[in-house]
Amino acid sequence: MKKIAIIGGGAAGFFAALSAKEHFPSADVTIYEKSAKVLSKVKVSGGGRCNVTHACFDNKKLITYYPRGANYLRKSFEQFNTRSTIEWFKKRGVELETLSDNCIFPKSNSSQTIIDCFLSEARRLGIKQKLQTPINDIIQLEDDTFELVSTAENFKANAIIYTTGGQPKNNSLQWLTKFNHTLVEPVPSLFTFNMPNESIRTLMGIVVEETTTKVEGTKLEATGPLLITHWGMSGPSILKLSAFGARLLSEKNYDFYVLVNWLHKQKEPETKHILESTIQQHSDKKIGNLNPFGISTRLWHFLLEKSDISIDSKWKELQGKKANKLINTLLNDRYHVSGKTTFKEEFVTAGGIGLSDIDFNTMQSRKVKRLFFAGEVLDVDGVTGGFNFQAAWSTGWIAGKNVLSYRL
Ligand SMILES: Cc1cc2nc3c(=O)[nH]c(=O)nc-3n(C[C@H](O)[C@H](O)[C@H](O)COP(=O)(O)OP(=O)(O)OC[C@H]3O[C@@H](n4cnc5c(N)ncnc54)[C@H](O)[C@@H]3O)c2cc1C
Repeated sequence: MKKIAIIGGGAAGFFAALSAKEHFPSADVTIYEKSAKVLSKVKVSGGGRCNVTHACFDNKKLITYYPRGANYLRKSFEQFNTRSTIEWFKKRGVELETLSDNCIFPKSNSSQTIIDCFLSEARRLGIKQKLQTPINDIIQLEDDTFELVSTAENFKANAIIYTTGGQPKNNSLQWLTKFNHTLVEPVPSLFTFNMPNESIRTLMGIVVEETTTKVEGTKLEATGPLLITHWGMSGPSILKLSAFGARLLSEKNYDFYVLVNWLHKQKEPETKHILESTIQQHSDKKIGNLNPFGISTRLWHFLLEKSDISIDSKWKELQGKKANKLINTLLNDRYHVSGKTTFKEEFVTAGGIGLSDIDFNTMQSRKVKRLFFAGEVLDVDGVTGGFNFQAAWSTGWIAGKNVLSYRL
């Protein structure tokens, strides 16, 4: 009987194990998990609700949510995409629901539903689990098998799917360098910006639904809601910048300037026109009392003050340099970022196993036959919204489907 070893009992590991056993029912499939519990990240994911995937059914669009690995994942999504995920869970009796932001959760609103589904499927298919069994090294033997080196005992396998997740350091992957696998230095992705010297923090709690944010001096740009926090800025627009800029911002030691357009994509002529018509129609009204841009009054007052305009001055007084300064503050507002904070809901690691060493049609290593990879251990990561799990499901399913096919 062929032995398939799954290293890591997380999202990708379980999906790979289930796929392997379904495609190769006569194989012996064992999950080796270093901790005492499997699926612990699934448990805490999405605030305990598990955002399993995203209602994006166009693969071309779907890959744009992945700062790293997008072009490789295009191949994976041709085989197993968001629609496949929904069908997979539906077939196994898990009802999912799509929220207004297109994030998809179990209808039960509990990540335990996903865990229960995986555990009962694993039981039904006879997949074994070995807990508290870290695999620290993998040795290729002459008879075309592998030896898995653990702390107390070693194991044998004909094929391996390696799914140990994202790591803050590449130490645990060092065994791969003997096979000439490239390792990409890990850096955090998905974090919020600290602004210890910026008084905008006094406006904590304010959300501006549509903004454009940029990192000064770079091409990094993102759109979406922005949340002002007591330490700086957060929200989808900032998280996207942090994900797409993960490596660059790490090189900058998290010290840079962010530029905010509080009016989404509005440009100077349009803003000028709005200011001019407000001056014409409401010349004697106080600027602080009439805000033509629909942003919150507290933020409007803050931006006026930042532009050296008294909230008690009249609209007719807004001329020349003063108007230009206000336009600049509204469209190109500059803040110093110094440091980052981990985003509590979902943090991932950029970096891991270099992608050019993997055949994404099968998820097999191009360097070692019968060694497959899936999930966050790869240099693949997505923004928030269910994209990271989708990558784990797709790569895990494909690895399982091909694990005993030995195409290279
Ligand atoms: C708080 C939080 C919330 C999140 N919420 C979401 C969400 O709602 N939606 C979403 O899409 N993504 C979310 N993510 C990201 C998502 O959880 C990960 O992308 C996903 O879990 C990656 O799956 P994985 O199987 O590759 O890795 P993991 O789930 O990290 O699993 C890896 C497993 O391998 C084990 N392991 C490691 N080394 C060894 C070894 N040497 N031997 C044996 N076992 C080993 C680990 O103990 C672990 O169990 C969240 C992340 C966090 C931290």
